[in-house]
Amino acid sequence: MHKIVILGPPGSGKGTQAEFISVALNIPIISTGHIFRNEMKNQTDLGKRITAIMDSGGLVPDEITNETVKNRLQQDDVKNGYILDGYPRTIAQVEYLDQLDELSRVVNIDCSDSVVTDRMAARRTCSKCGTDFNILFKPTKVDGVCDQCQGQLITRTDGEPDAIKERIYIYHQQDDPVLDFYKNKGILININGEPSIEEVWQQIREKLNLDS
Ligand SMILES: [Zn+2]
Repeated sequence: MHKIVILGPPGSGKGTQAEFISVALNIPIISTGHIFRNEMKNQTDLGKRITAIMDSGGLVPDEITNETVKNRLQQDDVKNGYILDGYPRTIAQVEYLDQLDELSRVVNIDCSDSVVTDRMAARRTCSKCGTDFNILFKPTKVDGVCDQCQGQLITRTDGEPDAIKERIYIYHQQDDPVLDFYKNKGILININGEPSIEEVWQQIREKLNLDS
């Protein structure tokens, strides 16, 4: 039974790798961000509470996030395992999950701050149609021009140097203690997230014994 948490900095490609694992093992990805957006869209009780919190500029408290995960883990499709993406992000969440269920592995897609910075700085968005590009991974055919609509590409606000620095700072503040917890528990697998998507996936296959 694979009960996996996937961790990694923004720009590490962990979302892509989570999808590969999900397909290979036929287990669902559980993303709290995704659940929250759905609840908000469907205007459920939970969705309305989250909308109110976010409108007032707050962060969703741990109790709500924990409760959401607990409910999700009771559904039928997680009987053969799951991948948690975007959770847990705080020690309170880590401890809650620890008494809720027993994880098999925590996969950390490791990338240096400088690689993350370069990848985030390479993000571009079309000013006309909003399509996202990345001049490192998904370059346009013509420099600075959108493939879809010939609109002009612009740097996203989250691609500005100060915004990137801030996000990396917040990432370490939040995730370093989470990584330490799982390292001490002996279930942390470190994956080098800097080579190509295929090479990163190959490392994960080996470390999770997906080929045997
Ligand atoms: Zn465009």
